[in-house]
Parts: sequence; structure tokens; C-alpha cells
Amino acid sequence: MRYNVDERQQAVRDRVKEFAEKEIIPVFQELDRKPEAFPKDYYRKLGAAGLIGFAMPKEYGGGGYSNIEYITLIEELSYYDAPTALLAAVPELATFPIYAFGTEEQKKKYVPKCATGEIIPAFALTEREAGSDAANQQTVAMIEGDEFVINGEKIFIMHGDACNIAVLFCRIGEVGEGRPKVSAIIIETDNPGFKGFTLQHKMGMRAATTGRIELKDFRAPVTNQLGETGKGFRYAMQTLDGARIGVAAQGVGMAQRALDESVAYSKKRIAFGAPIAKLQAIQWMIADMATRLEAARLMTYKAAQLQDKGEKFSLEAAQAKLFSTEVANFCVDRAMQIHSGYGYIGEFSMIEKLYRDQRVTEIYEGTSEVQRLVIAGNYLR
Ligand SMILES: Cc1cc2nc3c(=O)[nH]c(=O)nc-3n(C[C@H](O)[C@H](O)[C@H](O)COP(=O)(O)OP(=O)(O)OC[C@H]3O[C@@H](n4cnc5c(N)ncnc54)[C@H](O)[C@@H]3O)c2cc1C
Repeated sequence: MRYNVDERQQAVRDRVKEFAEKEIIPVFQELDRKPEAFPKDYYRKLGAAGLIGFAMPKEYGGGGYSNIEYITLIEELSYYDAPTALLAAVPELATFPIYAFGTEEQKKKYVPKCATGEIIPAFALTEREAGSDAANQQTVAMIEGDEFVINGEKIFIMHGDACNIAVLFCRIGEVGEGRPKVSAIIIETDNPGFKGFTLQHKMGMRAATTGRIELKDFRAPVTNQLGETGKGFRYAMQTLDGARIGVAAQGVGMAQRALDESVAYSKKRIAFGAPIAKLQAIQWMIADMATRLEAARLMTYKAAQLQDKGEKFSLEAAQAKLFSTEVANFCVDRAMQIHSGYGYIGEFSMIEKLYRDQRVTEIYEGTSEVQRLVIAGNYLR
């Protein structure tokens, strides 16, 4: 029985369990093992079940759920299959800047279609020279009349190979000395000059694809800029603050799965004439996993509660992301040790997949080192 800070969470857990039994469990292994290609039909099923657009505002076609409920959704989906959670989380990440900073016209045009899964949005910030140093944007938009002409490349973009629209962060004007003026622009990817490629041989999270985007003399109307010129970097950071709680929830879900699998396995695996659960070495691993997981979940819910209350939460989001993803790393590693050979070989258990899926949570939406910078900055500034 999971601890819920809010009674509405159990309803979300029950809803995900029902969906998982019908739609996730029958296909998740196949989605992990086949060559990477965006699973459009599966995505549409998530949309039809109302699991995409969960936290988007109701007035723009979203579910209108609280952040606590959304975080619970991501935790539970990650328990069954983390890439499925990512398929649901990426549209939230990509659509947030539109409904948070866009005009009424932009919100009405794009958010409802993103919320139902009818179109696939992407959040395109990272470049080869702009990873942790995300402000160092080299993609450039020049203004020609009432259009932006955009040239550049984006890398590691979730769903960048399949997206219909992207919120693109880029500098406005020539590449030059000093920090650029970064803006956020909505681009429609069926216009000429856009190419999206699927990045191959990804370690985990394979059902949710990651892409590289090329923009060559790509044109977008200037009316597609979000908010004010030069505020794009701030919008990106505000978006990532919230999204980090989602990544923390991915960690919590995977850590819980690693614990549950380990408890079940250690009770049935016999060594030296008794279940390995009788061995203190195993019991201590279980105790450490369970205790760290509990702390990670509480930190994650706390950050989501602050967000729901409209209070400042960027420190707590960074702490929850840092701690929960490192706890998930610890738990999948201990689960591997407990399962040993039956963990390492994928045909015997899901530990091998959990181990691969977990690792990126310490990298994307700000590495663990970047979270430590954010946290220290909050105390030292
Ligand atoms: C599967 C996947 C999906 C992704 N999805 C998206 C997406 O949808 N949209 C998007 O825009 N981006 C996405 N990213 C990009 C991701 O956010 C970056 O990979 C991440 O921010 C790190 O950037 P980098 O890989 O360039 O590493 P670098 O920035 O080159 O970092 C290399 C190392 O140096 C460390 N480092 C760098 N600067 C500092 C510092 N100042 N202090 C201490 N340590 C530092 C880092 O922590 C890391 O250990 C995704 C990445 C992956 C792998």
C-alpha cells in the first residue's frame, strides 16, 4: 500500500493500474526491444485514456488535474514502464511554455491538440554546445518582414523525430560575442526546412524516442514567438522547474518497482536450503532501499504540493529530482545484486530494463551536478 498525501492520489493509482493491465503489460517488452521508432498508435491510446494532457488546463482541453495527481500518474506509469511515463510527461513539458507564456490565440490553437495526443509536441532546448550551459544557444532566428528565418540544430530532443510542433529556444539575431538574447518560438514541423532524425542505440527509455532536429532556412511567423523577445531562457528554466518534479516521480516509481521485485524474488529464491530473504545481507539491502524510497517519495510530493499552492518550489524540485533519481539508481543497483544472474539477463526479470531506463533520469532536465548547483545557489546567494 503506497502512502498518499492526498486521497485523490489513490484514484489515479487505480486508473493507471487498470490501463497498465490492459495496454502496458502486453506490449512494453516489445516496445523496448524493437528498433527505435516513435510508437504513434500506443501514444494515441494514452491520449484516448486521458493520460496525456493530465495537468494541462481544462479550459484548453487538458485534464486539469493538480500537480500532486499528475506526479502520482508519472510515478505509477513509471512503476509499470518508465518510457510510457515519458510518453505522457514530454507533452506536458513541451506544452507548458505555450499555456504559461503564450497568447490566448496560441493557447487555443495548440494546447487542445497536444492535450488529447492528436499532435505530438517537443521541447527543443539542447544543442551540441548548449547542454548544461543551455543559454549558449547557437540556433539563430533572423527577422525578415513578418517571419523568423531559423537555422541551426537541436540534439537529444524527446520526440524530436516525430513531433508535429516544437517549442524551439534560439537566439534572435546574429551569433556574436556575449550571452545571446534567447526567445521561444512555436514551430510547425511540416513546413519546409525541418528535418527530424531518430537517435539510435539509446540505453533505455526506448519506447519514447529521442531525436536530432535540423533547421535550414526554416520559416515561422513572428507571431509564433512566445511571450517577450529575450525571455526565452527564463521561460525554459521555469518550465524545467516543474518538469523536474516529474523526473523525481519517475525515479520514485522505478525505485518502488525495484523494491517490490526484490522483496518477491528474495522470498522465493533458495540458496543454502532457505530463501535468500532470511539472509541479513539481503534484509539490509531491502531496508536501505525501502527507507531511501520513502524519503524520495515525501520530497517529491512536497515539491508538488508547493507547486499546487502557488508557492516557490524550484529549490524543492531540484532537491527532489537529485535525491529521487539517485535513490532510483541505488534501488535498481541493489535489485540487480539481489537478483544477480536473473537480474542481469533480461529474459528472466525486468531488472535489466529498469537498470537501463533509470540511468537517464540523472542526466536529463538538468544533470545531478546542475541540480547541486541550483540547490547550493539557493543557500549561498
Ligand atoms: C534521453 C535524453 C532525452 C533528452 N530530452 C531532451 C528534450 O526533450 N529536450 C531538450 O532540450 N533536451 C533534452 N535532453 C538533453 C539533456 O537535458 C542534456 O543531455 C543535459 O542537460 C546534459 O547536457 P549534455 O548532455 O550536453 O552534458 P554536458 O552539459 O556536456 O555535461 C557533461 C558533464 O559535465 C557536467 N557539468 C557541466 N556543467 C557543469 C557545471 N557548471 N558544474 C558541474 N558540472 C557540470 C555535467 O553534469 C555532466 O556530468 C535529453 C537528453 C537525453 C539523454
